[in-house]
Amino acid sequence: MSLDDRSLLPGLQTYQEREAALLAPYAMRSIDSTGRKHPEPEHPYRGPFQRDRDRILHCSAYRRLSGKMQVFTGEMGDYPRTRLTHTQEVASIARTIARALQLNEDLVEALALFHDIGHPPFGHAGEDALDECLKDEGGFSHNQHALTIAEEIDVRYHGFPGLNLTREVLDGQGVRADKQNPDLHPLLEVQLVDAADSVTYDAHDTDDAVKLGLLSLDELAEVPLIRETLQRVNERFEGLSPRVLRQTLVHELIDYQVSDVLRHCGRYLADAKLSSARQARRAQFFIGPSSEVAAQKTELERFLYDRVYRHPEIIRIREQAQSRLRRMFAGYLRQPELLTKRYLTRSESVGLPRSVGEYIAGMTDRFCNEQYERYFS
Ligand code: MG
Repeated sequence: MSLDDRSLLPGLQTYQEREAALLAPYAMRSIDSTGRKHPEPEHPYRGPFQRDRDRILHCSAYRRLSGKMQVFTGEMGDYPRTRLTHTQEVASIARTIARALQLNEDLVEALALFHDIGHPPFGHAGEDALDECLKDEGGFSHNQHALTIAEEIDVRYHGFPGLNLTREVLDGQGVRADKQNPDLHPLLEVQLVDAADSVTYDAHDTDDAVKLGLLSLDELAEVPLIRETLQRVNERFEGLSPRVLRQTLVHELIDYQVSDVLRHCGRYLADAKLSSARQARRAQFFIGPSSEVAAQKTELERFLYDRVYRHPEIIRIREQAQSRLRRMFAGYLRQPELLTKRYLTRSESVGLPRSVGEYIAGMTDRFCNEQYERYFS
């Protein structure tokens, strides 16, 4: 359908009308999008950020997140979050916050679904190994790789490479890839997804670690944020079984953090009377937790780092994954004929090491293990 075919959809509320009715002045509006690198006709009933969300959802890198670990590998059981379910939790929490603050939910959802699609197999262990393998080529970062996928690698549309996402989504991911750059002034929607990511992993890593028996709730209660949250749960409910107590703790952890972001940011946004998204991104204010909760989260994250991310079992998996990835990287360099045609062709433009790194980065944990056993073990 072309734009003119709107007449075929009588009574339809357009996304422009919807945004005008629902969004705050400081939200990013679709109508103000600076568009796509390769111009495309507008869609009759999906706004540009809805289309971005759909393109991300339908791309293979997104689907493969289901086979990529978050913190705990598949061999540790089916309970822990995968990179995909983490992403879905981030999107859900981000949309809740966006709706309450009257920010652009479609943009927030697109950014959230996009944020981890550049992750290699085996989480940060895999990323660190690839970064080391590619150190002479500028290194490897999953945040940057998401942009490479969206702009070059995932070819699925006629007429242009990549997903041809809006500049707002690409720039938002660009901020993640260049976090230390003070000259970047992200949209509130971009800041929000970062905050939602942190709410999400603090809660679910706690849950997964306890469920897997790496930590007990009693040990976790050394951390003030957990201790206080457990106290609130125990005041509200009596005699919860250990399983329900753990799950209730996680719900409460999410609720507490989200409520804090809303209180902290809602108060500021109500007082600041920002008149546009442009003004909001220049304001010296960031969507995130209050300073008190930020400090509590830092304590929890330190504890998780020492006791979970550096747990001997996790270290063992990390080292095994890294040694596999290093051997595979060297192996594909020696035998580029083992690459798929796409990455072999791509090596002509980006060089063999980069292309090998990108090929490995696209693998799920399972496929990576299979390839390793088949060719390099
Ligand atoms: Mg994430």
